Amino acid sequence: MTLQSYPNKRSTTGTSTRVPDVQPTSGMCPICIEECPVLCEISKSAFRGRETLYPSPEYFGRSTAAANKDYGLDWSDLQIMVTVQGAYGIEPDPDKALFPNVDVSTSIAGIPLKVPVFQAGLGSTAVAKRNWDSLAIGAALSGSVTVVGENVCGMDEKAIITNGKVTHSEDLKYRVETYRKFWDGKHGDIFVQTNVEDQRLGVDVYAISKLEVNVIERKWGQGAKAIGGEVRIRTLEKAQLLKKRGYVVIPDPEDPVVIEAFKDGVFESFERHSRVGMPTLRGFVEDVEWLREQGAKKVTLKTGAYRPIDVAFTMKAASEAKVDLVTFDGAGGGTGMSPVPMMQETAIPTVYLEALVLKAAMILKKRGKHVPDIAMAGGFINETQIFKAIAMSNFGDGPFIKAIAQARAPLTAAFKGKYFRKLAEEGKLPPSFKKLYGDEPSKYFVTLPELKRKYGDRVKEIPDGAIALYTYWHDRIRVGLQQLLAGCRKFKLSLIDRKDLASLTERAERVTGIPTIDKLDVDVFEYILS
Ligand code: SF4
Repeated sequence: MTLQSYPNKRSTTGTSTRVPDVQPTSGMCPICIEECPVLCEISKSAFRGRETLYPSPEYFGRSTAAANKDYGLDWSDLQIMVTVQGAYGIEPDPDKALFPNVDVSTSIAGIPLKVPVFQAGLGSTAVAKRNWDSLAIGAALSGSVTVVGENVCGMDEKAIITNGKVTHSEDLKYRVETYRKFWDGKHGDIFVQTNVEDQRLGVDVYAISKLEVNVIERKWGQGAKAIGGEVRIRTLEKAQLLKKRGYVVIPDPEDPVVIEAFKDGVFESFERHSRVGMPTLRGFVEDVEWLREQGAKKVTLKTGAYRPIDVAFTMKAASEAKVDLVTFDGAGGGTGMSPVPMMQETAIPTVYLEALVLKAAMILKKRGKHVPDIAMAGGFINETQIFKAIAMSNFGDGPFIKAIAQARAPLTAAFKGKYFRKLAEEGKLPPSFKKLYGDEPSKYFVTLPELKRKYGDRVKEIPDGAIALYTYWHDRIRVGLQQLLAGCRKFKLSLIDRKDLASLTERAERVTGIPTIDKLDVDVFEYILS
């Protein structure tokens, strides 16, 4: 398999090359000419330097970004094996074994979810803030979890910080309350994620004591990068405030030369970076105990796609500390602002990562140790990928992977709902869309009638982005999963297992341990015919 690699042009950085048949290793045009007006990676870097490391800054706040590298192994390397015989989890009766009767509910950290998908931490990055109502209400309507990501209090200009600890945050309060407006109190919940800066500010204690948040998540990283969270800051005043609050802000917003350059329009945004943690086994166990003493009902951990020994360390720490859930985020995914080369070229892609996580889970289980619930993240957008990730994790005693966390996909659904409302109001919906689905939200949102039935007049309080997310999760992913499970004659999500999968490539087989199709059922094949 030839992996795609475009080191000198990327749509994420807005670069291209003069000719398409580039030199494969460097990615440069085979003839690079002096009078070339095209901005390739090298030439954009020659003008804009570090900006070229990032997804085009002009889209920040209104976009998400991820890697576009083919890792040579993804969920399409596994095939779902359907069957014609029997039914599990329901009576084997054709009148009962119907796909709408498949139960795709699950639970994470002891919290029931109506759909096996939830939102990974969406925090201070502008795109999460701008779309918060859609994300939070959409998750609540779907009976799922949303995780408020890192740095929300530290970035909140209206936060009150007394003696270095947050005592009020308008933004965090708003985020929690927005989710709870449509939360049924049973399915899903809102988690608050905390990184190094949040812990210093006491965000955990504030969330538990003042906002009655039940679940605190510790953050060790994300799949898109192995450095702390980053966002762009577009005003000098905010950059200076964040520097005063202890954040790393680049360039220095208090340097007179930088101030002058910013005012002259030489650059349009500052970078705000977060620190990385230095986790130790003992420190983590004590920290989780301390969080429980502070009143956290559940404690979860979110980590990135670090090397295999770190997967082992994370699972060991999570087991010793008896955390309720660990979310592993594979390489390739992303959200707001991660360096593109880091998204492309570092960390472990999701399928490889899950194989390592499962290896660790099996070792712990065999030794009689606590195995926390596990969620996978990293580029999941549809039910087939979700099915495969969960089925692969079931060695016979139920799946280790209880649910899938997403960040970009729910944002895309939210974007669409919101943007198409705007287009509808301006009479600018794409003609083909209008012809097929109607010219206003009451016509084109297929789930609106059921939401009206359920919420009556309150449906007016549901933003279009939330309806879009609900429709995507509840009407597409849930139903899509029901169909796939029914095809395997499994009528409960916890029943799908590794036998429902086959590898299509030898690499997939080697990494996942799932045999290729030619090796499936060989032991009984002849016997059946005898
Ligand atoms: S500067 Fe050279 S390598 Fe870059 S696009 Fe132009 S010709 Fe190609």
